[in-house]
Order: sequence, then C-alpha cells, then structure tokens
Amino acid sequence: MIEWLGIGHLFELSRTEAVAGFFTPLVIFAAFFLAQLILPGRRVPGYVINPETGEPRSYRLNGLLVFAIALIVWALELTGMPRDWFYRSSIYAVAGGTVFTTIFTIISVLSQPQGKVKNPLLALWFGRAQELSFFNERFDVKMYFYVVGGTMLSLNALSGAVYHYQLFGESSNPGVFLYAAFFTFYVLDYFIFERVQLYTYDLIHESLGFKLWWGGLVVYGWMFILPLWGMAAYPDPGFSPAWSKVWLIGAAALFLFGWGISRGANLQKYSFKRWPDRKFLGLIEPRFIEAGDRRILCSGLWGVARHFNYMGEGFLSLSIALVFGYFTNLWAWTYCVFVVAMFTYRQRDDDRHCAEKYGPEKWGEYQARVKYRIVPGIY
Ligand code: NDP
Repeated sequence: MIEWLGIGHLFELSRTEAVAGFFTPLVIFAAFFLAQLILPGRRVPGYVINPETGEPRSYRLNGLLVFAIALIVWALELTGMPRDWFYRSSIYAVAGGTVFTTIFTIISVLSQPQGKVKNPLLALWFGRAQELSFFNERFDVKMYFYVVGGTMLSLNALSGAVYHYQLFGESSNPGVFLYAAFFTFYVLDYFIFERVQLYTYDLIHESLGFKLWWGGLVVYGWMFILPLWGMAAYPDPGFSPAWSKVWLIGAAALFLFGWGISRGANLQKYSFKRWPDRKFLGLIEPRFIEAGDRRILCSGLWGVARHFNYMGEGFLSLSIALVFGYFTNLWAWTYCVFVVAMFTYRQRDDDRHCAEKYGPEKWGEYQARVKYRIVPGIY
C-alpha cells in the first residue's frame, strides 16, 4: 500500500530514528516556546477585545526573529541535525505531533470552564477558551501556533528540497526547489505582516480545541507539504528548455498573482480597521455600510467578492499543484484540494458569524452590494 502510494521513502528510518522522529515535534514545540519567550519582541495592541478589561488584547510579536534564527540553525546544522531530517521523519513527526497536541488539547480544554459547547467531544474539537496567554500576555498561544506552524512549514519544504537534491543531484526537478522557495516566501511575508494576522478569522472566531492545536501546529507545520511527500521522489520531468520556461515562469507568475490578491485584500481590511477614513495605498476610497458602531468594508478588493482574499489563496494553491511539472499526479493536487475545501467551508462559516455580528439586515445589504462569495461572477 505504502509503495503503491509512492511514499515508501518516508518509511526508511531505523527504529531509533523513528523514535527520534516521533519526539521531534515535542522538542520543536519546547524550543519555540523558549525562543518566543526569551527573544525581544514588540508589544502591540490587537483587534480582539479582552472582555475583562474592555480594552484590546496586547500581543508581543517576534515571529520574524524566531523564523530567521530557526532558518540559520537549520541551514548551518547547528544542532547536529541533518538538513533532510525534517522531511525524512515526516510520518513519525506527524504521529508524534498528533499525540502531543491531543494531550495539550485535553489540558487546555478541561482546565477551562464549560462554555457554549456542552458536548465534551465537540468541546475537545472546538475548544472552550478563545484565548490563552501567559506571563502577563508575553506569550500568546494562538500567535505561538502561527510562529511554529509557519516556520516548520518552510523548514519542512526546504528539508524536502535537500532530500530531493541528495537523491537526484543533476537530474533534480527545479520545480521542487521553486516549491520550497514559494513556501519560504509565503512564510517570510507572513512574518513581515505579522500584525495584520491579529485581524483574522482564527484570532476573532476560533477557540483553543484540537482543531486549532493540531491544525496550527501539525497540519500547518508538517502536513501542508503533503504534495512533497509524493513529489520529492520524482526527478526532473524532462520538458524541452522552452516548455520548462513556460512551466516554471508560469507557476511562479500564478503564485505571485494569488499572493498579490491575498496580501492586498488582507492589508486593505487591516488598514481600514486601523484607519477607517484613510484611502488604501493612497488610491482606494474606503466605502462601507454602517452597522451600529461597526463598519462593513465594500470597496476595492472587498467590493469584488466578500472573501476575495480566499480566491488569492486558491490561485496560490493552484500554482503549487502545477509547480512540480507532474500535472496528473494526485499528490501534486493534495494541497490545492485541501485549500479549496477549507476556504469554501470557512467563507460560509465567517458569513454566518458576520450575519450575527453585524445583524442580518446590514449583512444582507452587504450581500446585495457584493454579490459573490469568493470568485467574482462565478461563486
Ligand atoms: P479574514 O482575514 O477575511 O477575516 C475574517 C474577518 O474579517 C471576519 O470575521 C470579520 O471580522 C472581518 N470581515 C470580513 N469581511 C469584512 C468586511 N467586508 N468589512 C469589514 N470586516 C470584514 O479571514 P482569514 O483569517 O480566514 O484569512 C486571513 C488570511 O490568511 C487570508 O489571506 C487567508 O487566505 C489566509 N489563510 C491561509 C490559510 C492557508 O491554509 N493557506 C489558512 C487560514 C488563513 P470583524 O467584523 O469582527 O472584524
């Protein structure tokens, strides 16, 4: 079965290595916890209101520094860990990460008072507390998820690229290196705009259950490279030089197009929330619907579709499916299928939350003004 799936190369560890792979996420979780706590960071007010004080929650951001240090430690093998280790130990790390995040979920759910969700299994999945922070808000669990998840996504992709090069040398697939560059850029961009993330769905709506513990740490950190589990074992697809250019430049252009939409929309919303009267990029007039003391943005990228940022994410995932040059291989499409399914669900869920928050009448007015959910003219 494993051979048939084409991932036999991920099951080649010795017994001792397999145990080390299983515990790798725990070591990573602890190292990142210490790094985030000890390294300097900038304190910023967030978007979510702390119900106890009525003031915005405070966050300490140092993701970019943690990411840079982690990259250096990995690239120079400063801990003695080979660069291809993360990739080679993927399966065992996912198993270990799942067990450890299950334990953290149980602690973080059962230590909190019962909330809206009464069913204990659903409470474990969705969580009870919306926020968990320690040491006078010096350490915020949700932002920790992003720092660990994002950094490990990049390191896992880079580690897979190293494994691939060691396997194929001269006949390596340039698409694999481009893929690792895509995700490293994606994560770097995320850390540069870390503050914008304080204005997003996970921070606003999600609670700390298994969905977020496992999703933020294991799925985001280790499993987002699913396409590479299959594709790192394939050499250069062998196109002609002209077709190689079309394929690689085309995939990179598609990636940048998707990223541009997504980054642009997120920045516009962030800018609107912080400076409601300011033109976005000095060009786009903020037009909005008033709903009590809240405002629904409906100009610029937020006037094209109600979640145009998800369309950007969709194009980006399509570029990932195409970058390997094996267009009919199902492994290459796994991330794309996941992203499209997740964002279709998430948009509907966010729509429901927003209808409650803004009131059905005002939200209905917004839906009438911005007709499409994600893809203008289609959906
Ligand atoms: P958003 O950043 O769109 O956040 C949703 C919230 O924004 C809503 O709950 C609402 O909160 C506010 N909002 C929505 N529409 C409007 C509007 N018209 N006017 C004013 N406020 C509005 O969603 P996400 O957090 O899901 O996405 C953030 C980014 O992260 C996206 O680019 C997304 O694609 C990316 N992402 C990528 C993932 C991946 O797997 N690749 C996973 C998750 C996110 P309120 O009204 O309270 O302000």
